[in-house]
Amino acid sequence: MSELKLCQGTKCHTYHTQDRLKGNKGSKTYQTRRRSSFYYGNGNFCSLNCQNDWFNDFGDRAIDHFGRLTEPKHLTEDNAWVKDYDYNYRNDNPKSNYRFVNKVTQEQRPLTEEQYRDNNYTINTGE
Ligand SMILES: [Zn+2]
Repeated sequence: MSELKLCQGTKCHTYHTQDRLKGNKGSKTYQTRRRSSFYYGNGNFCSLNCQNDWFNDFGDRAIDHFGRLTEPKHLTEDNAWVKDYDYNYRNDNPKSNYRFVNKVTQEQRPLTEEQYRDNNYTINTGE
């Protein structure tokens, strides 16, 4: 069994739904949702509503903490690599289904499935 996670929404416990009402008879309270997984905000929120509540409360501070953009970013050859695959790929094709595509030059480079799934793997060299 995986551990239960708490929704990180700052107002989750204020929404009156039956599944949030927990506790012993006579002393039930509305509580933050707890589940093995969530669909929103990288698995941190039970709903888009809760994700928005969090962002409204903490978003400005989070952006300032990690670095607010002060100049526009530019798409160049060096940072234009994105991962791609064919939705209708068939296994009899000898080439890997996964690849990097450069959105500026249209050049393609092969990619293993493992590299495709690795969110930290990139060949981009610029911001
Ligand atoms: Zn929630």
